[in-house]
Amino acid sequence: MSDCCCGQGAEAGVGAPDPLEHFARMIPNCLAYANEAKAAGKAVVGILCEYTPRELIMAAGAVPVCLCGGSAKMIAPAEQHLPANLCPLIKSTYGYHLTKNNPFLEMADLIVAETTCDGKKKMYELMGETRPMYVLELPQRSGEPGAMEYWHIELKKLKKELEQRFRVEITDTKLRAAIGVMNRERRLRRELADLMQSDPPPLTGRQLLEFKSSISGICVDLAQYEKALEVYRNPDAKLSAKVRVMMTGVPIVHGAERVLDIIEGNGGVVVCMENCTGLKPILEDVNAEAADPLRALAEKYYHLPCSVMTRNSKRLEVLRQLAGRFRPQAVIELIWQACLTYDVEAFHTRRLVEEDLGLPYLRIETDYSPSDSARVATRVEAIFETVRQQSSI
Ligand code: SF4
Ligand code: SF4
Repeated sequence: MSDCCCGQGAEAGVGAPDPLEHFARMIPNCLAYANEAKAAGKAVVGILCEYTPRELIMAAGAVPVCLCGGSAKMIAPAEQHLPANLCPLIKSTYGYHLTKNNPFLEMADLIVAETTCDGKKKMYELMGETRPMYVLELPQRSGEPGAMEYWHIELKKLKKELEQRFRVEITDTKLRAAIGVMNRERRLRRELADLMQSDPPPLTGRQLLEFKSSISGICVDLAQYEKALEVYRNPDAKLSAKVRVMMTGVPIVHGAERVLDIIEGNGGVVVCMENCTGLKPILEDVNAEAADPLRALAEKYYHLPCSVMTRNSKRLEVLRQLAGRFRPQAVIELIWQACLTYDVEAFHTRRLVEEDLGLPYLRIETDYSPSDSARVATRVEAIFETVRQQSSI
């Protein structure tokens, strides 16, 4: 079984530059990889959410690429069709669709979407008018009897769609190989995130966030994750006076790191990110030994505690566990403007943080525009001052 999606083995890319330098070129690296894959006759499949199992796409011999937009420049074009009062992540993704400025989207042979929040679902209808799209229906009452069975059936339907569209057979052997690759990637990224438990941590939160890829399972990336685990073992004394922060809420996709930068530019260090661009999707692996690998895939992905679920109590359990492991001094919740599910759920997270964990909590609602950066910085400074006062008592 190959241990990466291009089959080159674990040693590929070990001689490449410093891991942070490598991931600073993540987009051009992924673009070169996707172009090579296309030239070799492979399909490219766009994904837009962490509920979509990359393994199934990889087992179909295709390359799964994340298409979520993080560019503020794409908001204005998107507002030609979409309401201004909509989540910037949705608008930015759609802006790329209209302007044809995302090369991954332009080379996608299929987009696999999902019924999560209302804004995304309705945006997919517009995007699907001109692009090949398959929508997975996600049951949203996570504890409901039969919900898992329904989701398993949805994945069976997606498997059939991929097989027919790309004229391949997705065997259990291929599925297990893809599960092996993704489990390895999740483990490496978890181990990197775990480095932040040390006080002081070896990296800033922004540096940790660099260790990601729009395309999973690339051999060179996996080798660089391993190298990073060797290189960034030692605590960074420069970070010892910083306020340890846990971030939660919406994903911080590539290009939309402004609030994280404000936190770390004003005396904080983000030691843990619970969101979908942080630990949430990599906390659990797929059971590679399961008799039915598709069912195992359904179970792992269905456990993801997103705010579109009702109720979403598992997210609170995860936050409690992460707070125990990473020992934050404050929790900052990021809400993209008009993200109703995370915004309403902020009631529960605030209560957990303030009443159960006994930590200061700050909710920041914003979009991709830098217009409120000074106001956000003032609020961040204020919560850090509260932390410092509490620590000196
Ligand atoms: S936050 Fe929810 S909707 Fe967004 S990527 Fe994660 S699972 Fe998908
Ligand atoms: S951040 Fe909220 S509104 Fe935006 S896509 Fe994710 S769940 Fe939907």
